[in-house]
Amino acid sequence: MNEQNKNDRAAWLKGPPAECSVSETRSPWRLVLLGAPGVGKGTQADLLHERLGACHLSTGDVFRAAGSRDACEQTPAMRTAIEYMCRGALIPDTTVWEMVRERSACIRCGGGFILDGFPRTVSQAEALRGYMEGESLLLSAVVNYELPLAEIVTRLSGRRTCEECKSVFHMTMQPPREQGVCDHCGGRLFQREDDRPESISVRLEAYERSTAPLIQFYSELGLLVPVAATGSPDEICGNTMTALEALASPG
Ligand code: AMP
Repeated sequence: MNEQNKNDRAAWLKGPPAECSVSETRSPWRLVLLGAPGVGKGTQADLLHERLGACHLSTGDVFRAAGSRDACEQTPAMRTAIEYMCRGALIPDTTVWEMVRERSACIRCGGGFILDGFPRTVSQAEALRGYMEGESLLLSAVVNYELPLAEIVTRLSGRRTCEECKSVFHMTMQPPREQGVCDHCGGRLFQREDDRPESISVRLEAYERSTAPLIQFYSELGLLVPVAATGSPDEICGNTMTALEALASPG
């Protein structure tokens, strides 16, 4: 990977006018990660970033960062978006696209990108496609992480996140050394509001209704790369790399 690209996501997380230090690479990877909530897209995006250099761009991270700001710093559209997120419901397409469009420098970035959690509806996918066509950019691939429903529920309900460094643990599958405390920075671990049981069913229903159709959308475009989301995170990442290496050269 390009040593200079350190997943500097200032421009993504803060929006303009923030700038980051990412530099152009010769054949940037432009990836979309698909899969139900809880399959581990965020973990895979971080691991893929280490191997491919492209930045991990999560729309959920942007909305969560906005949610942790003071209410008076939030726009009315953002306040409404945060309410949707807390219920586990999808944020309306226009709000999501406005937020991504504002950060379109990250889509044009010569270091590439790994989109996690976007697009989540066919209308978002069409907006992204239209934008990329206008900029003469092509997606390299769309990785679809597959996992049985029962395992998804187990993963989501046991997930805990560090308040400080955002590292993710699992109560039984990847427990921290000390209960409730982050191994990396000592921060407090918490359960995301949308990982509570009442939100999980809303999120899974939203996935089935709105996001699963993207599998066909990208399959018809010849971009879909299915990968089983079973095994350790490193194994899954290895399988993803093998599948990506089998594709024609990226870019
Ligand atoms: P995630 O971290 O990707 O699971 O996203 C957390 C929550 O943010 C989702 O449950 C939605 O409420 C909201 N969200 C994130 N990305 C999108 C998107 N592309 N479209 C609609 N809602 C989104």
